[in-house]
Amino acid sequence: MSVDSAAFLAALRGALADSTAPVALHQPEFAGNEWAYVKECIDTGWVSSVGAYVDRFERMLAEICGVRHAVAVVNGTAALHVALMLAGVRSGDEVLVPALTFVATANAVHYLGAVPHFVDACPDRLGLDPAALERWLEQVAEITPDGARNRLTGRRLAAVVPMHAFGHPVDMDGLAAVAARFGIAVVEDAAESLGSSYRGRPCGTLGRLAALSFNGNKIVTTGGGGAILTDDPVLAARAKHLTTTAKQPHRWEFVHDEIGFNYRLPNLNAALGCAQLERLPHMLARKRVLAERYVQAFAGMAGLRVVTEPMGDRSNYWLNAVVLDEENEDRRDHLLGAACDAGFQVRPAWRPMHLLPMYGDCPRAPLPVAEALGRRLINLPSSAILGGAAA
Ligand SMILES: *Cc1c(COP(=O)(O)O)cnc(C)c1O
Repeated sequence: MSVDSAAFLAALRGALADSTAPVALHQPEFAGNEWAYVKECIDTGWVSSVGAYVDRFERMLAEICGVRHAVAVVNGTAALHVALMLAGVRSGDEVLVPALTFVATANAVHYLGAVPHFVDACPDRLGLDPAALERWLEQVAEITPDGARNRLTGRRLAAVVPMHAFGHPVDMDGLAAVAARFGIAVVEDAAESLGSSYRGRPCGTLGRLAALSFNGNKIVTTGGGGAILTDDPVLAARAKHLTTTAKQPHRWEFVHDEIGFNYRLPNLNAALGCAQLERLPHMLARKRVLAERYVQAFAGMAGLRVVTEPMGDRSNYWLNAVVLDEENEDRRDHLLGAACDAGFQVRPAWRPMHLLPMYGDCPRAPLPVAEALGRRLINLPSSAILGGAAA
């Protein structure tokens, strides 16, 4: 059965009943204390690198995620950069990352002088597939006293970065077992998964360190922002130090004891973030309502499936998605075009990393699932407002 663009549009319209085009893919919502908190920053002059909202934002994040420490930074890419550094990734290492991800996951690896090594996606969960990873490591990895090595390149396999794609949790128990077997550190790219959980445990608390993003299109936004999460107090202190130019605290002396980064989140952005986090449960509830409407609207349509949360886990439904059957792969651009023409902002999955010019020569496992999803997945409008008005 070929997916007809009129039927596809009718299903979209059905799910988005009360919304009039144009409908954005994911728009932020400021319906709480955002204005009051940002105004307070301006009124008091505490807009920049010092201020109480940064501490408050970090405490709120830690509590929501159930993690001991959160360190707020300027964006999710910076959070990944420092999290990988603290996990021990060094120049000349390799880091296992999903081929199907946003480019920041691979870029952060490159910033450390390390090489991304691409692995395949799970067809249901969309993120990294631990079973495929294990089969691949059995072929290419050797365990040495210094950790796992890629036998083909001689480089150390320093870390693996599960990314919970569009908010759907990776099978983290499966991944933890593979990572432990080969002695590889786990750093979560939880940029898309604030509010998701795996077997009752929040995403962002399932590895040694995690990175969150608060970009304008994410679940909640600080304008631009990110955070590093960890339970380890030593790593948390290192994260704070490195992201604040490695300056030793002193009333007047300017002494920096190593080369750090100016990655601190400004107070102005943290103020916005505090107001956003206050409303996170309400946003998540409405995103679930919308996801359920998509399931119903596309029910019975042959030639595609709606992506839903894995059994036993909870997704934040950051971005809803449908996946076309193989026979309908060549219909994708037609459907994208029809939806865009009708004012619905839809988009394909990211181009898989190994198909980008700068990462074409990187080591990689067979990537049949990532490539298929790259050709067949369509993200649908997913703003919280589409699941009901802001209360
Ligand atoms: C958004 C995102 C990032 C990066 O976050 P920024 O805040 O935009 O730097 C990293 N990884 C994934 C998977 C993302 O979706």
